[in-house]
Amino acid sequence: MRALIVEDDQTLAAQLASAMQDAGFVTDTAPDGEAGEYLGATETYDVAILDLGLPGLPGIDVLTRWRDQGIAMPVLILTARGDWTDKVAGFRAGADDYAVKPFRLDEVVLRAQTLIRRAAGHARPVIRAGKLLLDAQLGVITRDGTPLKLTAFETRILTYLIHHQDRIVSRTELSEHLYEADSDRDFKSIEVVIGRLRRKVGDGVIETRRGEGYLLRSAPR
Ligand code: CA
Repeated sequence: MRALIVEDDQTLAAQLASAMQDAGFVTDTAPDGEAGEYLGATETYDVAILDLGLPGLPGIDVLTRWRDQGIAMPVLILTARGDWTDKVAGFRAGADDYAVKPFRLDEVVLRAQTLIRRAAGHARPVIRAGKLLLDAQLGVITRDGTPLKLTAFETRILTYLIHHQDRIVSRTELSEHLYEADSDRDFKSIEVVIGRLRRKVGDGVIETRRGEGYLLRSAPR
C-alpha cells in the first residue's frame, strides 16, 4: 500500500513516514500544500495523511481541490488540539477521519489501515481470501493458520491483492501501489515476485490473465 504524507513539520513527517513504512507502506512526503496537492492529483495513493496547518496552500484547500477533481482516496486530516471548527471544515471538505496533535504514531497508522480496508469494502480487520488470512493491522498473512514467510515486497503485493480479491488487478495498477513516486516501476520484478508468491500461497490462488493482470480468488478452484 502507498501513502501520501503532507506535513510541513519535517520531524513529524519523517516520524510518520517511518511508522508507515514499518507497517509495510511505501510513502511519499510533501512539505507544503502545493506539492501535496500536486502529488495527490498526479500519483495514486491508498491513503493520504494531510496536515491542515500548512504554509502556502492550506490543507483544507488541498483537500477541496482533490475532491473537486474527483480524487476519492481516503484522507486522514491532522488538526491542532481543541480546534473543533477545523475538524468540521475538514469533514465538509471530504475528510474521512482525523487525528488531533499530538497523536500516537501507531494510532494514525491504525486509522490509515482501517480507512484503506473500509474503502476496499472489508468489514473486519482480518480479511479472508480462501485459505489465506490477512491481519491488516499486524501485516501478517497466514495460510491454513500458518504464517507465510514473505519478503516486504511480497507482503506488499499480496496485501494489495487480498484487499482487491476477485477482480483483475493490472500490472500498472499494482505498480502504482508498490513504489514511491521517484522510483523505477519494474514490471519484470513484479512478475518474478508473483511467480514466487504463487508457490508460497498454493496452486490456483493467483491467476495471471495474459495482457490483463492478476486475479486472486477468494474461492480458488
Ligand atoms: Ca503544520
